[in-house]
Amino acid sequence: MRLSGKNALVTAAGQGIGRATALAFAAEGATVLATDRNHESLTTLAKSAGRNLSTRVLDVTDETAISKLATEVAIPFDVLFNCAGVVPAGALLDSNEEDWDLAWRLNVLSMSRLSRAILPRMLAAGHGSIINMSSVASSIKGVVNRCVYATTKAAVIGLTKSIAADYIRHGIRCNAICPGTVDTPSLGRRIEAQARSQSATSDSVRQLFLDRQPLGRMGQAEEIAALAVYLASDESSFTTGAAHIIDGGWSN
Ligand code: NAD
Repeated sequence: MRLSGKNALVTAAGQGIGRATALAFAAEGATVLATDRNHESLTTLAKSAGRNLSTRVLDVTDETAISKLATEVAIPFDVLFNCAGVVPAGALLDSNEEDWDLAWRLNVLSMSRLSRAILPRMLAAGHGSIINMSSVASSIKGVVNRCVYATTKAAVIGLTKSIAADYIRHGIRCNAICPGTVDTPSLGRRIEAQARSQSATSDSVRQLFLDRQPLGRMGQAEEIAALAVYLASDESSFTTGAAHIIDGGWSN
């Protein structure tokens, strides 16, 4: 098993990509602390996982909760997967201060806070892999109606590259995952919202999302999880500071 002996912390593990990754990490032998702000979804997750996966409620925008986690959880983490993020819709002129504030706090600041909380023990251990969830909608590709989102996901790539550059000599690797369109519960909600706002059917909007990929389909959460497993494992020991695109050819 590729992650035997590793301790991993995953955010937003209640559903979607975070959930699939927490389960994949555990299946590969890691001891996983799966966190999410939603207690109910964590309970469901715990039921479908083995004893090497435990759960803890964590709202990543809560600075105090992050400090508490760092002091209360004594184990040093080998892997941190910063997965939590929000997808505000709209172009620049559709955005307001509230959108910018929430997206900044949830998509960027939370990752820097958690990394600051976890990194000292990784440094003491002399190794660690931090994986940050970005997106193809970022500095990689301009996407219609994703202004606030793409700005923050571009910042995630900047954060990733900075961590990688600063700590490369200390055994720390830091990589970003940049998915395209992945079929998760939040994508379903975005499709419904777009259909309502355009007075279109959900099926027709879903088809628009499907058509973005030359591969002809959306990605599955498990496919993103497989990349996260690779980046968490020692198989990826020569990659750091990279934005790993996984998008069915959308940005090609
Ligand atoms: P999802 O909506 O299916 O799941 C999100 C999870 O995050 C939920 O369990 C929710 O409770 C949790 N969450 C939300 N706010 C939180 C907070 N403040 N603290 C802790 N947990 C919180 O999401 P997903 O589609 O799997 O997306 C996960 C990540 O992947 C996000 O960062 C998203 O931007 C990114 N991403 C998704 C896609 C896609 O197409 N689905 C594409 C590119 C990037």
